[in-house]
Amino acid sequence: MFCPNCGAQIEDGAPLCPHCGTPILAANAQSAAPGDPKKAKDKPSLLLLILSALLPAVGLILFFVFEKRSPYRAKSCFRGALIGVALILLLLVIFLIRLFH
Ligand SMILES: [Zn+2]
Repeated sequence: MFCPNCGAQIEDGAPLCPHCGTPILAANAQSAAPGDPKKAKDKPSLLLLILSALLPAVGLILFFVFEKRSPYRAKSCFRGALIGVALILLLLVIFLIRLFH
């Protein structure tokens, strides 16, 4: 590998560049990090699913908000919204059946 500061070739895993003293591990961690923490945070969320089930409109909005940044969260919101809509329809059907019998 090469030093990000001075470009000198250095041993893999060396903590410092022997030529200029730049800390290599920290530089590597910083350059490798940006993708990972976001992915670690993006998990299916039961809380979002329940919230979306209770408020399907909010769930759909959250789905569009999370869609690009957090696909798993977006899926939770979308499923929750579907469950919420299904429950509302179910209650509506039960209500209508009772109304007409
Ligand atoms: Zn260097």
